Amino acid sequence: MRVLVFNAGSSSLKLGVFDGKRQVFKAGFDRFTPEGCDLTVVGVKSRAPHRDLAAAIAAVPALLDQHDVAGIEAVGHRLAHGGVEFTGPTRIDDDVIAEIEAQTPLAPLHNPVMLHAVRMARDLWPALAHVAVFDTSFHLTNPARATTYAVPATWREAGLRRFGFHGTSHKYVAERAAEALGQKASDLRIISVHLGNGASACAVQYGRSIDSSMGMTPLEGLVMGTRSGDVDPGAFGFLQRELGLDVSAIEGALYADSGLKALAGSSDMRDVEERAAEGDAAAQLAINIYAYRTRKYVGAYAAAMGGLDAVVFTGGIGENSASMRRRICDGLEFLGLMLDDDRNRAPDLSDQAAPQIQAQGSRVAVIVTETAEQLMIAREVRQLLARPAPIQRSIPVAVSGRHVHLSAEVVEALFGPDYQLTPGAPLRQPGNWVAQERIALEGPKGRLDRVAILGPMRPRTQTEISRTDGFALGLDAPVRDSGKLDGTPLVRLVGPAGSCACDGLIVAARHIHTNPVDAEALGVEDGSFVNVRIAAPGGRDLVFHRVLIRVAPGIVMEMHIDTDEANAAGIAGAAEGALVTTATTVL
Ligand code: ADP
Repeated sequence: MRVLVFNAGSSSLKLGVFDGKRQVFKAGFDRFTPEGCDLTVVGVKSRAPHRDLAAAIAAVPALLDQHDVAGIEAVGHRLAHGGVEFTGPTRIDDDVIAEIEAQTPLAPLHNPVMLHAVRMARDLWPALAHVAVFDTSFHLTNPARATTYAVPATWREAGLRRFGFHGTSHKYVAERAAEALGQKASDLRIISVHLGNGASACAVQYGRSIDSSMGMTPLEGLVMGTRSGDVDPGAFGFLQRELGLDVSAIEGALYADSGLKALAGSSDMRDVEERAAEGDAAAQLAINIYAYRTRKYVGAYAAAMGGLDAVVFTGGIGENSASMRRRICDGLEFLGLMLDDDRNRAPDLSDQAAPQIQAQGSRVAVIVTETAEQLMIAREVRQLLARPAPIQRSIPVAVSGRHVHLSAEVVEALFGPDYQLTPGAPLRQPGNWVAQERIALEGPKGRLDRVAILGPMRPRTQTEISRTDGFALGLDAPVRDSGKLDGTPLVRLVGPAGSCACDGLIVAARHIHTNPVDAEALGVEDGSFVNVRIAAPGGRDLVFHRVLIRVAPGIVMEMHIDTDEANAAGIAGAAEGALVTTATTVL
């Protein structure tokens, strides 16, 4: 499928046409003035008469004709902000446009321009499918502890929260890094560091974004070309009292007159590096601040994920500045991250390569790759449109109470040498059962008795509790997929013959087990996410967003939620769910 990708900004329009992975056409209009603009087509620059974005968009059909680009079947649009509504790529219709418009207060600078481009493109190509891909969607998996500002409730209710941006880029480079390592993103903890004119870092834990450095707006976090990144919000009061500046003047300066531009007189890292090399102290300090801030986020995200497998650099600076990569990585040896200077010096990034630049023996891989946001948008468009419409059929819902899966060593520690658990009631999944024995869980705050043990035994002990159980124990269990246990907290397991402290304490992420036949009938793939409506008695119907699909042969289809989720939906005993949208994300 041939996809045209539109990336419209207030001062530029970038276009790409993709056939699978292959880019068949590329053009960019920028620097609009009343006299015209710069036009770059497949690398060749010229002047063009278009004075603004609307004129440039109107000229696109003729430009495509002129270069014999035909057969376009869909248009992908980059949108800055999808709020909490848009969890993935979305086919655009009038309702979707109205919903995007409703997000304007969240991105007053970006969304209106991008929407204008969407409207014009729909008028130009009314017969084509138009799909919106949002910079924010990838981060909607961030847990509340990462997205919530500690501010008054009325502010939060008005919508103030952290979102994160550059999602398309972070998702692409994390997947590309995993591919380069020959592993699945869902098995890795990756920090993606996108350093362009805008800059952000993102913690991608087992395929999902769990935190990123940009916040409510793209101002928070790293030092950028003209944006400040993190600043004490107390600056607003200080600047108002001391310099008489009002909120819009301060905000304007934080966006447009800060960052490298403020520190070193140029927003362009190449200039800053040149001046620093010539001895300019301000440029040297700017580089130090830039690298230090980025390194702090890498350390923070390694801690947030309980470990680190790979760092991937991208964006103009991340891709091209060997010295900046070196400065950022210096001092991270304690994480097991060591750079190889020769490999770091000039990695070959042609043809979407993703070379590794860590030293022999480094526990953490370091990868450099070009970001390919447009390619990723085209891929997401294709995936969305290729997916068959889901068949409306019901999904049995099972409520999992707190339980443990024990390893053989832990069974012996709790019940004595050579002890064999006694299989009790069989579970719905063939071969699985509840043991007749029970154990207790202990945390710093409390104890939970009569906790079920599910068999058969597993190589690694896993303890699944609800969020409420976590508070009863006084332990902060992360939401994880089954088996993803690195960096999880210790909990004391107590049996009749002994006890042991064991990691593997999680709140199980909601998921649907299914088999290949049922998955195909539902129109879903392994690793994708769906939204499921649960019709509950008592009028507490609830839509659960981002339910992970896990496909394996021989499995009976069943959605698993925990007791907190079941209580929220008013479920007692059995319930049924139904898909409300198609799957959105493939890891
Ligand atoms: P955008 O975020 O607008 O897409 P880019 O990803 O193109 O921006 O990144 C632009 C930044 O990359 C600029 O600061 C530029 O100076 C920097 N950059 C590009 N090439 C190099 C290089 N060889 N060395 C250092 N910085 C570079």
